[in-house]
Amino acid sequence: MTTIFHKIIQREIPADIVYEDAHLIAFRDIGPQAPVHVLFVPKQDVPTLNDVPEDAPEIVGRLAVAAARYAKAQGFAEDGYRIVMNCNGHGGQTVYQLHLHLLAGAALGRFGT
Ligand code: 5GP
Repeated sequence: MTTIFHKIIQREIPADIVYEDAHLIAFRDIGPQAPVHVLFVPKQDVPTLNDVPEDAPEIVGRLAVAAARYAKAQGFAEDGYRIVMNCNGHGGQTVYQLHLHLLAGAALGRFGT
């Protein structure tokens, strides 16, 4: 499936890209929910967390490690941050290409229902 994130990966639409390597891309969310809101997206087609192959957990691991590395490089790792993955309708997923949200830059409220 082609999503808006695939178009960002292909440079078909613009985004504020903050990191890219052979496996993933990271760019600022267009509707930030915190002072820092960056999305980490694998280049491999994976619609949701449910679709990560059991023999390829590194797809998720790379996103988390890249987010932590970014937090350290930007100087807010010690203050802290939140990472979130929404899955399917009840999880609030709206773009069906796997992505990890990195939220930071302020003390974040507790989340729940
Ligand atoms: P989800 O709700 O699927 O977990 O998160 C999708 C995120 O993608 C939302 O936070 C939304 O603001 C962001 N988003 C949607 N369209 C675009 C876009 O065209 N560019 C960027 N940078 N972010 C987008």
